[in-house]
Amino acid sequence: LEQKIYERTESLLDTQKELLEDKKGLLEDKNELTRMALTDGLTGLSNRTHMNQILHKEFSRFERHNQRFGIIMLDIDHFKSVNDKYGHDAGDAVLKKLAATFDKAIRTSDFIARWGGEEFLICCTTIEEEDLLPIAETIRQLVATTNFDHKSQITASLGCAAIVKGESIGDLIKRADVALYEAKNNGRNRSMVSEFTDISLL
Ligand code: GH3
Ligand code: MG
Ligand code: MG
Repeated sequence: LEQKIYERTESLLDTQKELLEDKKGLLEDKNELTRMALTDGLTGLSNRTHMNQILHKEFSRFERHNQRFGIIMLDIDHFKSVNDKYGHDAGDAVLKKLAATFDKAIRTSDFIARWGGEEFLICCTTIEEEDLLPIAETIRQLVATTNFDHKSQITASLGCAAIVKGESIGDLIKRADVALYEAKNNGRNRSMVSEFTDISLL
């Protein structure tokens, strides 16, 4: 009988070990799925979903601790003509190279995502409005001086906004978008800051 109990216990322990390994595998699969759901397939940067999560986190930090944050929205200039002249693959290569360049250039405390198409969004944590423009300008110059395989220069326009009391994440994004639109209208290859500080003006 003792031998039987011993064998049964061994077999149960083996089963338990197998189940634990299965669980580990499932957890790894789950982590991989989560990572994929938050990553942009082309550039490997975070995607819009991930950025929205970050913005919500920053927003609650701002509400609780008054820790201000800002965003920089970047849109590549005349990108359609890059595709038209050099082909869609060359366009994709530009997006990949810029993404890798941005990723290296931003502060470790900042966060960048591909917001969509040829637009990137940077979330600058713990920042004041006046500090956004220098960061945007550094990035703009980086774009303008990067060499691409298709041998033609790329520029980008950027719009910045820092959160103010009483506005929503949507309001903040809208202000950055308006600033970006102004940068485009003022000739592109430039950065503009939205300078609203009074919520009643929004
Ligand atoms: P603007 O200076 O006003 O921003 O001009 P634009 O040409 O950059 O803007 P528009 O919105 O007219 O065109 C955006 C282009 O970006 C069109 C679209 O085909 C291209 N695009 C968006 N996503 C991708 C992508 O993943 N790969 C490639 N190759 N092109 C893309
Ligand atoms: Mg665009
Ligand atoms: Mg564009």
